[in-house]
Amino acid sequence: MKKVLITGAAGFLGSHLCDKFLEEGYHVIGMDNLLTGSMKNIEHLFPKKHFEYYHHDVSKFVHVSGELDYILHFASPASPIDYLKMPIQTLKVGSLGTHNLLGLAKAKNARILVASTSEVYGDPLEHPQTEEYWGNVNPIGPRGVYDEAKRFQEAITMAYHNFHGLETRIVRIFNTYGPRMRVDDGRALPAFFSQALRNEDITVFGDGEQTRSFCYVSDLVDGIYKLLLSDYHLPVNIGNPVEITIKEIAEEVLRFVPESTSKIIHVALPKDDPKMRRPDITKAQKILGWSPVVDRRQGLGITFDYFKEVLS
Ligand code: UDP
Repeated sequence: MKKVLITGAAGFLGSHLCDKFLEEGYHVIGMDNLLTGSMKNIEHLFPKKHFEYYHHDVSKFVHVSGELDYILHFASPASPIDYLKMPIQTLKVGSLGTHNLLGLAKAKNARILVASTSEVYGDPLEHPQTEEYWGNVNPIGPRGVYDEAKRFQEAITMAYHNFHGLETRIVRIFNTYGPRMRVDDGRALPAFFSQALRNEDITVFGDGEQTRSFCYVSDLVDGIYKLLLSDYHLPVNIGNPVEITIKEIAEEVLRFVPESTSKIIHVALPKDDPKMRRPDITKAQKILGWSPVVDRRQGLGITFDYFKEVLS
């Protein structure tokens, strides 16, 4: 039985990855320090024989006894308000945390996949974004702590690959949504769903003409799984290429709650908010044979049911 360590296991993506690897017959060690993760996301896994939980901050030396086949590094605050509140931890988990996990991978002769992000493209000047684009990032802006930590993460991961011959994988994750997103994580979809359900104003930042491309979580997890098992070590974009403006998605969310008295209001656009974002997924299609299959209506429906239950 293959053994996998998943950091950030109690988070949105980490917990779905734990589910996936357990379903696929792996022994899963979930690691988290619950800075932004929640026990609720993994409570259902504790009775399982092949799930273990380690409470640990990966910015500090990481010890796992016995053999390890794979490491997936998904620990990090991941929403703009979280990394504004926790800038130092965000920098540390992407840099020191990644270094510790690369060291662990080397010691165990394990393959490691690190969670990078579309934020490495910053406020992109090329559209859609291919993996060859180097990005347009403000290193000292509010997003710099996340963007630069992730850029450093890619650099050190490539260095371990080139210098130590470590088996590495880098996924650049675009906006993803689905059950287990934190209601108060400040991101567009949790904010809009909770506002609509609580009859509060829907806060569209700026004119709402900025775009994003939202991927349903099961598609993302499937892409990550395929990338881990592939033999491709350069960064791969995983995301849904269907692009929408933020104003349009706020209207779509509102349509799920027809009885809501919420109104869309416009508030100040945060500094350095990317104006557009859409993945070019040619590489994932060709190398992994992967494309997203869940359309937005379906994905938003499942997500709506989740938020309705959490907020009831
Ligand atoms: N956004 C918004 N209202 C909110 C939260 C976010 O209009 O309450 C906008 C935000 O300015 C950005 C987009 O929605 O343009 C996506 O934001 P999110 O925080 O979800 O992720 P990002 O892609 O910016 O990292």
